[in-house]
Amino acid sequence: MSNAQAPATLPIIIQLSKLDVQIATLSAQKKKLETELANRKQVISGHETKRAAREKVLGEKKTLCSKEEKSVKVERDRINERRAALNTLNNYKLQQAAEREIDYVAKQIGQREDLLLGLMREIENLEKEVSDVTAVIEGLAGEYSALEKESSETIKGLDEQLSSLNKERTEHASHLTGQPILLAYNRIRDRFPSNPVVEVMNKDSCAGCFMKLGPQVVVQVSRQDVVKCPGCGRILRLSAE
Ligand SMILES: [Zn+2]
Repeated sequence: MSNAQAPATLPIIIQLSKLDVQIATLSAQKKKLETELANRKQVISGHETKRAAREKVLGEKKTLCSKEEKSVKVERDRINERRAALNTLNNYKLQQAAEREIDYVAKQIGQREDLLLGLMREIENLEKEVSDVTAVIEGLAGEYSALEKESSETIKGLDEQLSSLNKERTEHASHLTGQPILLAYNRIRDRFPSNPVVEVMNKDSCAGCFMKLGPQVVVQVSRQDVVKCPGCGRILRLSAE
């Protein structure tokens, strides 16, 4: 077994780079869908938090309102009884004094009733707000579940493609197992996921960073050596033509 029979390194790197670019593209598509779903979920949960806060205030106002309503009713009944009892007083002065007192208390009750009406209006507004937010949440939740359904199909397809690409990649990479070039390539791939391997452009420049390459570099590339661009560090290859 001589080294000559081992597969040439550059074609493997080129093959790996083609697979990696596809993997990166599909992974980005998948991530975009997942991010979109997560963002929408967050928007919905923001509305839910808002609704919960409104519902809490609403509950408190309702409790206060019903308590006040009962108490005002009791006061109102009492004053009505006293008014009915007025003509049983045969002393005119006493009657006058009692009437003044009743009027005073009735006025106070009237003020409390006005406040109560205000409270009722507040409750009405809060109820409207809660129901508006609920409508928004329902609309968004409907859109979310439709998108989730659609996305889960797409993500499933992407996962299948990714798994077969990764399998293929593992196979190709196995030819370079333990070789420093594989680690070096992986680092370049992480830095330039969309084009870790670039062509020599116009026979003398790097198509990635447009730096002019020396003749020595071009000769090495022509020999199918694995050469990095001195400018950007991407691996160079001859153009396909
Ligand atoms: Zn370059």
